[in-house]
Amino acid sequence: MIESPLLPHIGAYIAGKWSQAASGRTLPVHNPASGEHLADVPDMAGEETTAAIEAAARAVDQEVAAAERAGWLRGIHDLLLEHRQEMARIITLEQGKPLKESVVEVEYAAGFFRFYGEQLSALAPRILPEPIRGAQWTIHHRPAGVVGLITPWNFPLAMLAKKLAPALGAGCGVVAKPAELTPLTAIALCHLAERAGVPAGRLNLVIGHAAPIGETLCAHPAVRLISFTGSTEVGRILMQNCAPGLKRLALELGGNAPFLVFADADLEAAADALMANKFRCAGQTCVCANRVLVQHEVADRFAEMMAERVGKLRVGNGLDPQTDIGPLINRAGVEKVSRHVQDALDRGARRIVGNEPREGGGTFYPPTVLTGVTPEMLVSREETFGPVVAIGAFDSEDQAIALANGTPFGLAAYVFTRDAERAERLASRLVFGHVGLNTGSGPTPEAPFGGMKQSGFGREGGVEGLLEFCETQTLVRA
Ligand code: ADP
Repeated sequence: MIESPLLPHIGAYIAGKWSQAASGRTLPVHNPASGEHLADVPDMAGEETTAAIEAAARAVDQEVAAAERAGWLRGIHDLLLEHRQEMARIITLEQGKPLKESVVEVEYAAGFFRFYGEQLSALAPRILPEPIRGAQWTIHHRPAGVVGLITPWNFPLAMLAKKLAPALGAGCGVVAKPAELTPLTAIALCHLAERAGVPAGRLNLVIGHAAPIGETLCAHPAVRLISFTGSTEVGRILMQNCAPGLKRLALELGGNAPFLVFADADLEAAADALMANKFRCAGQTCVCANRVLVQHEVADRFAEMMAERVGKLRVGNGLDPQTDIGPLINRAGVEKVSRHVQDALDRGARRIVGNEPREGGGTFYPPTVLTGVTPEMLVSREETFGPVVAIGAFDSEDQAIALANGTPFGLAAYVFTRDAERAERLASRLVFGHVGLNTGSGPTPEAPFGGMKQSGFGREGGVEGLLEFCETQTLVRA
């Protein structure tokens, strides 16, 4: 069982109280690396979600000045950094990623609280004179109201921080629902928010099976916005459930990121960038390269460079400082990766690094490099969400663009070339919300990030991410 000073209570957090499910039911939380039982968390449903929504609605009625809200955000930022090692340990225990990555996640998450703490002046009313009629207009950014935040298990802290910091900054009342596989990090974050002075009811955490909680959030008239990060299928369900009440949504859904390497690129730099981009969180991220597309004349050389690097990765328990790659989140994740790899091999791809996971190998999947990957393979059509580098080839710039855009998704894309004009041309033709030019970097607090096409809509990060949690109201005075 987990013991942590950041988890003095293991429960949901509703109206400022730590609580258990009305039914008394619980859900177990396991360490994906060892299968160890870490904790039991409440298995809540509609009743508790309604109580949380009502608490958030009462909190929103108590208007709080921007300076005070900024103080909460700074406080959470400071506490996260103060407790970064312990917070990172909780992330690694329930999520599996290497501890050094968890520390980076805590620092990244803290950055959203810092950034939004500095940005609330963007909400100041804007005055517009109207010379012809002599009227005066004032544009306000009012808080959206009660918002539901639903987050996934791959970055249990960062995905919540990206939503929570702007929601609290904008003056909203929050009902958060973490992934049932990784609720402990969210519990610890609520504990820190309480210590940072966020008042009772302003932030509520409901834990349990997703469907009844999600349905209640979508149906309750007090909830004005659902911000969700997760799969496209669940995004679609939420959109359907929000349609009757015409509720606003911000959806950050799946990706199928292309990583384009042109023959004129710095191949060593591209290979290093791909390693960092691909293997973070064992390849379970929505921005990681899913389709590596390399110009024909350098495809073999690039594959060798990747094989050499991937062959050195050490797989193990995230708490072991030697570990580069932790486990996948569960057996279902391993089975999906195996299915993708087998499908690619059946259709003619070659596996130049890696092998089938051992029988009884639990949740670990060996880092793998495939070559000869083509668009009809599952590894090209769906997000594999595992440590597999799937390398295909292209001839011309036009073909590269057509292959890259040949997906219903549009979250992140990466281009490696020394030709600056080509890079700009590609950026304007790639239908992706985030484009990395000669870098595999993902999002940052300062910049808006989000998808195009079926990767969703709405932005997180940047001032745009703050305005997502606001309603624009226009006043006109005679
Ligand atoms: P992933 O593939 O990353 O597990 P999911 O979309 O299944 O993505 O999960 C992301 C979040 O969505 C989790 O918090 C999960 O509990 C939640 N979720 C899953 N199903 C539903 C649903 N029907 N309604 C609301 N939330 C859901």
